[in-house]
Amino acid sequence: MAVTAFDKEALRRKYLEERDKRLRPDGNEQYLRLRGRLAHYLEDPYTPRTEREPKTDHKTVVFIGGGFAGLVTGARLKEAGVEDVRIIEKGGDFGGTWYWNRYPGAQCDTASFVYMPLLEETGHMPTEKYAHAPEILEHCHRIGKQFGLYDDALFHTEVEHLEWDETHSRWRIRTNRGDDFTAQFVAMGVGPLHVPKLPGIPGIESFRGHSFHTSRWDYDYTGGDPSGAPMEGLAGKRVAIIGTGATAVQCVPHLARACRELYVFQRTPSSVDVRDNRPTDPEWFARIATPGWQQRWLDNFTANQAGGTAREDLVMDGWTDISRRVRAKVAGLPPAERAPEKVLAAFEDSDFEKMEEIRARVDSIVEDRETARKLKAWYRQLCKRPCFHDEYLQAFNTPGTHLVDTDGKGVERITGTGVVVAGREYEVDCIVYASGFEVGTEYTRRAGYDLTGRGGAKLSGYWAEGMRTLHGIHVHGFPNAFVVQPAQGANLISNIPHNITESARTIATIVKHALDHGFAAVEVGKQAEDAWVELLMSGPGTLMRSPDCTPGYYNNEGTGAGPHSWLNVGYPHGPSAYFRYLDEWRESGEYAGLEFR
Ligand code: NDP
Repeated sequence: MAVTAFDKEALRRKYLEERDKRLRPDGNEQYLRLRGRLAHYLEDPYTPRTEREPKTDHKTVVFIGGGFAGLVTGARLKEAGVEDVRIIEKGGDFGGTWYWNRYPGAQCDTASFVYMPLLEETGHMPTEKYAHAPEILEHCHRIGKQFGLYDDALFHTEVEHLEWDETHSRWRIRTNRGDDFTAQFVAMGVGPLHVPKLPGIPGIESFRGHSFHTSRWDYDYTGGDPSGAPMEGLAGKRVAIIGTGATAVQCVPHLARACRELYVFQRTPSSVDVRDNRPTDPEWFARIATPGWQQRWLDNFTANQAGGTAREDLVMDGWTDISRRVRAKVAGLPPAERAPEKVLAAFEDSDFEKMEEIRARVDSIVEDRETARKLKAWYRQLCKRPCFHDEYLQAFNTPGTHLVDTDGKGVERITGTGVVVAGREYEVDCIVYASGFEVGTEYTRRAGYDLTGRGGAKLSGYWAEGMRTLHGIHVHGFPNAFVVQPAQGANLISNIPHNITESARTIATIVKHALDHGFAAVEVGKQAEDAWVELLMSGPGTLMRSPDCTPGYYNNEGTGAGPHSWLNVGYPHGPSAYFRYLDEWRESGEYAGLEFR
């Protein structure tokens, strides 16, 4: 579906016009926090809570968060011989994102071979190129069992206070289950997107029908199950889904099949490229799965991202296609013309081409011309999370499925009986909120607790003007504490688990070094942290945060990076270079910048 001719000026104008429709002064404040009367939206529909005695003991390492970050770090610690590891998790089991997101059709958007961690260690062969959620959740359970992480895990438990005890060089941890225990080290991987939010639509609390957020899917109401069994409970129902981001793109086809009438309320269309999922051929897998295979695949996928120079592309998908195109354009420039502005222009050209293809794809799939027109995304591909699906656009050809486009304005109002757009009420029995998760708010607000470090300093205060770390992991003033998340490290958004597995290695290495040498504490020095932040700021920044982009969580809802995200950038020389650098930093055994005492 190659697109050759387009008017760049007209496209630039159209992108800005579409962005302007969506700009609003309230930015992140447009969303509702799920507290008070809305707190029931957060209840766990999947696992009943069991009573237990509060813990008052001491652990070597406590990890907050039982998703990939906690599981992989826990596994690496156990491999390093650190047996005494406790994971605290707010859900009823391991899984994190994959514990909560069980909506029909949920699957990974990055190839399973690089997305699912510890495949080689567990011997698991992903059954599909893009595995579905139940398989990923089961893999989380597999890791938990294989590495003995269930033994001491505390589920349905939320940390409320975390305080450094300088005298004893340990953290005091208190939770909402009455626990009050200590740990020499704490690490936290609370997830970038785990606090569901609702749109602040007037009247939202007046709706008398049924409603839930996609991350708390109510199968008791809809029928069906996460593996895609038909949702018979919706057979006679009129259902609204609000939001058309990556989540909605995956669950709309299932709703379209199940509901009597489905209304998809759209504020901004997603760009939806080809998915091309397929089952894994075990013979092929046996050939590729030679020792060290997953690390080779990880390195190769990353090397095919921005600035990468890989000669082969093992994964070959929509993510690597983005960078392949840009590289081809830049390679087409005579060497003398590869000045930064020419490179940026080549990047823009390749983006226009890609987005024209994605818009042409809508026309080739969606039968109703008006619906097709409204489903076209008018922004650069990385302005919003790129989506990939082979049934989403097709769902709009299903009788009974209606796109209700709000022309960038969002839903006007919710009444006791339905959803109002442009003065028209759409009466529904159920509203599904595919409205996403808090991003761009304070780390400590999303975590649900603050850290009190050396001398009583609060992490919220220390990061009030932006995050400050070494490698995105170590924070000055907060000894023996490690953060697991992508920013200030590789910041590789296309494959979050790769960031996590590298941080896990680092944490296990540092903890083992401290224990082997009898150090009570380790902390990054102020100078080393400052130098790292300065290095990060020398980088080119990222298009994803551009105010030219249509608003969304990538650019803080169009208000530009606020204090809580302006320093959420990556290593200036790109993710592959970062991983090489980090590897050497660990291998050197010197751990430059850290002070052990
Ligand atoms: P998003 O934040 O991406 O989407 C929220 C949706 O709600 C947007 O379409 C938004 O519109 C819409 N919305 C918000 N307010 C209103 C309103 N007032 N009226 C109408 N619509 C409104 O959340 P998702 O859960 O879809 O995805 C979050 C992230 O989770 C993804 O970006 C991705 O990183 C991750 N994810 C990954 C998946 C995977 O790997 N397989 C699958 C699903 C999610 P607008 O765009 O205009 O703001």
